[in-house]
Amino acid sequence: MPRLHVHCKTLFTGLEDQPRHDQALIIEDGLFSHVGTRASAPQPLPGETLIDTGEHFVMPGLVDVHTHLVFGNAKSEEDIDLHVSAEFRALRGLFFAQHVLAAGYTSVVVPGDAGQCSIAVRDAINAGLFTGPRIAASSNVIANRQSLNDWFPSWVGTPEYFTGRLCATRDEQIAEIRRQAKDGVDLIKIAMDGTQRRANGEHIAAFTEAETRAMVEEAHRLGKKVAVHAYGREAVLYAARAGVDVIFHAFFLDDACIEAMLESGSHLAPTFTMLANNVEFAEDYEPSTRSGYAAMQQRVIDIGCRNLRRAREAGVPFMTGSDSGFAITPYGEWHAREIEILVDWLGFTPAEALRAATSVSARMLSATQPVGAIEVGRRADFIRVDGSPLENVAILQERDRIRGVYLGGQRMEPQVPGYDPYKVSDFNTVKWAELHTRQRAVAAGKRPVPARG
Ligand SMILES: [Zn+2]
Repeated sequence: MPRLHVHCKTLFTGLEDQPRHDQALIIEDGLFSHVGTRASAPQPLPGETLIDTGEHFVMPGLVDVHTHLVFGNAKSEEDIDLHVSAEFRALRGLFFAQHVLAAGYTSVVVPGDAGQCSIAVRDAINAGLFTGPRIAASSNVIANRQSLNDWFPSWVGTPEYFTGRLCATRDEQIAEIRRQAKDGVDLIKIAMDGTQRRANGEHIAAFTEAETRAMVEEAHRLGKKVAVHAYGREAVLYAARAGVDVIFHAFFLDDACIEAMLESGSHLAPTFTMLANNVEFAEDYEPSTRSGYAAMQQRVIDIGCRNLRRAREAGVPFMTGSDSGFAITPYGEWHAREIEILVDWLGFTPAEALRAATSVSARMLSATQPVGAIEVGRRADFIRVDGSPLENVAILQERDRIRGVYLGGQRMEPQVPGYDPYKVSDFNTVKWAELHTRQRAVAAGKRPVPARG
C-alpha cells in the first residue's frame, strides 16, 4: 500500500495539552508511521497521496464508551426488550452506526444488549460490509434479582431476547461470562446497583463484594474488559476494589471509593449527558417528568457534580459516555455533550476533556486496535474540525463542523438519510396518557354540563 501523507496546520494528538503546528502525518497500512513537523517529515514520493487539511483542526477520532447501538432510540424498556426481534435490532444498529460515525465518533463501546446484536454489528463492519465506527461489543448485562436490567417482574424473568441476564448464583454468573467470552464479546457488563436501600437511603449493591471479585477476575482471566453500572456508594466500592475497567455514573461515591479506584486503576465515565438531557428536554406531559424521574435526576446531578469533582481532583481517570440510543439521546446527536459537561460541571480544561474523549476512553477498545491518539503505531483514526475545540469544546456537537472522518487513514462517507422513527422503534401498545373520566370530558367542554334538578 502506498503511503498517505497528511499535512496539518493545527494538530491535537490526544495526549498533550497544547496543539502542535505545521505537522505532517504519514500513514502506512492504516497505522501512523510518522508524526512530526512538516520540516522534518519525509517528502511524498511520486504516486503517494497528500491530503492538505487546510485550516481544519485535526484530532483523533472521538470515543464514546457508553452507546447502546441497538436500542433504536427507544422510549421505554419494553421498547428495547419486547417489541422487536434481535435480528431487527442488529440491522437497525448498522444503520445508526453511520450516524455515530458522521458525528466524528470513530469508536464506541456498547455496554449491554441481547445476545449477539452488537457483536454482529461489529463483525459486519469489521468485515467491510458496512461503514461504521470500531465497536467494543458486549452481550447481556449480568443482573440478579436485585439489579437493573432485570426490569420486569420475577414471574417474567429474563428470556433470551432481553438485555439483562438473570444470574442468581455465583456459578451462573461465571458460566454466563464464559458463554459470552466464547460468543465473542469484548467486554462484560454488570448491573451493580441493587433495588433495596438501607434505612439511611443508601443503595445496597446487587452483588456481594466476593461475587463482584469473582466475576471481574474471571472476565479478566479470559481477556475481557469489565464495565459496570453503579450509582451507589457500595456498588462503586465493590467494583473499584475488584478492578473493574470502567465504572459508569459513580455519582454517590465517597473517599474510600476514590482511594480504591486510584489503587486498582478503575476509570470513571459519569455519563451525565443522559441525565442532563432528561432534565432539560423532557416535556411536562412525558412520563419521565410526570413520574418524578426527571426531578430525581436533577438531585443526582447536584450530588454527582460535587462528588465527581473530588474524584477528578484526586486523579481518577475519566472517560466519556453519553448513553446514546434512547429517545432522549438519539444517535449522532449528543455524544460530544459529555465533553462539554466535563468542562462546565466538573472543571476539566478543554484539553483534559478531549483527552478523556480520545486516548483515555480508547483504553476500553481491544488492545489489538490501538486508537485514540495521533501517535506512531496507533491506528490512523482522525477527524477534521472546522474551528478549535480547545477554544470551545461545544463545537464538536455541531455536525457541519465535522469536515472529515478517517478510519485507518481512509476517508469515510457515512450515509445519514432521514427515517421514520415510528417504523424503527416505539412499538409500545400504550395508547393513552390520561384517565378520561366523565368529569374530565365535561371540564374540557366535550360533554354537556349535567343539568341539576
Ligand atoms: Zn446505559
